[in-house]
Amino acid sequence: MDLPDPIIIPRNQHSISRKDIDREALKVLYRLRDAGFSAYLVGGGVRDLYLGKTPKDFDISTDARPGQLRNLFRNSRVIGKRFRLVQVFFRGNKIVEVSTLRCRSEYDIEGAEEVLPANNTFGSVAEDAFRRDLTINSLFYEVENFTVIDYVGGVEDLKNGIIRVVGDPDRRIRRDPVRIMRAIRHAARNDFTIEERTWQAILTNLEYLAMCPDSRIRDELFKDMRGGACARWATLAMECGLFSTLLPFYGPDLIPAVKDRLDQLFKVIDRLHGEGAKVDESLLVAMLLLPWAEEVLHLHGAPTRGGEAYQFARTLRDRMDTAVNHLNINRAQKELVTGFLVNLPVFNEAFGDGGWPKWLIKKSYFKDCLRFFQLVREAEGKGQVSVADYTLPEEDMETSVKVPRKRGKRPGRRAPVVVGKAKGGIFGLKR
Ligand code: ATP
Ligand code: MG
Repeated sequence: MDLPDPIIIPRNQHSISRKDIDREALKVLYRLRDAGFSAYLVGGGVRDLYLGKTPKDFDISTDARPGQLRNLFRNSRVIGKRFRLVQVFFRGNKIVEVSTLRCRSEYDIEGAEEVLPANNTFGSVAEDAFRRDLTINSLFYEVENFTVIDYVGGVEDLKNGIIRVVGDPDRRIRRDPVRIMRAIRHAARNDFTIEERTWQAILTNLEYLAMCPDSRIRDELFKDMRGGACARWATLAMECGLFSTLLPFYGPDLIPAVKDRLDQLFKVIDRLHGEGAKVDESLLVAMLLLPWAEEVLHLHGAPTRGGEAYQFARTLRDRMDTAVNHLNINRAQKELVTGFLVNLPVFNEAFGDGGWPKWLIKKSYFKDCLRFFQLVREAEGKGQVSVADYTLPEEDMETSVKVPRKRGKRPGRRAPVVVGKAKGGIFGLKR
């Protein structure tokens, strides 16, 4: 491959300072350099430092092979099959990931190439730059001279606030349609503009997202919802059609009716994450589904008592099953989400100056549903929730609230979709 020369930005012309780099990451960089290998800080770490943000993680690339890395870092392990990555462990559960420079992304491999031996994927810095997704994610920072190495015009794009796929956007997006989500994510997070060719490639290739594994799409979607810019993300995603592609229950015809409501709800999610909260998935899903339940299922006119309420809850649950089937929301979470939604009108009705009625406070679902109710209130400009109430411990992030199981009775695979007639009523509905 004929690759261009890079632009090298010397230390006095960029603002990346060693003092902003994680101590452990620096240790890894220096150890590699002292052993005679090349060592670079890469990807999102360089991008965020350049923008004056605190990176989530510091990824390192080197010309050392995984085996050499294992010898160099005793407390490390190799992960990944085709693309082996070395994790170096430090005290306090700290992990620094080190990868060997590659000539291609795992997603850019196709056909006969797929059977290439793993070591045939190693490459030069230039090649590694060109296998990355966006120009702003393709920068290298090296600790020998503290320069930034830019093969793809990423620094210029960072300066001008532009999102651009590396190489031919059409081809790169077809090879890995998730790059659409990555482009929209970084545009939203940084309030950057998507360059025209990249934008066109997004518009024409949305349908290819259906070829990506659900699990990958799901992870990316929750990353966006928790990224602190999900309101802006949703606006952009609606504009290009990504929103309806990912969430077909929000078809293009429905978008105008739900747009503002979703925006208000998502702004609350953003405020919380911006202040360090970690909102659990069930609440996120409920926020995502609320405008749909309101518009399509007429949630607010729905019965709140007796058999009719039960029937409505069942319908909502069934419709939700279909709507978010591809997002792999687990059963316990779906039950919680149903409870949050169907109880919202109950809470609205019961809400008054004199505090909550006793019968409601006594319900097993009261606390959970109250958290959802209050989020929705904030979205409507009525009050503000406390961040502490929406911050989960890290390990509990995925399944925050578990639906308790009856002792000795595990629900079989064919258990009814509706939770039994528990004390709190069905879905916590008053009976
Ligand atoms: P974040 O701050 O969310 O971690 P990030 O850019 O670091 O953002 P990661 O998912 O950690 O995102 O990926 C690390 C790097 O790997 C990216 O910066 C990019 O260079 C590269 N990368 C990630 N996904 C892809 C992809 N699908 N195709 C090509 N390169 C990718
Ligand atoms: Mg990262």
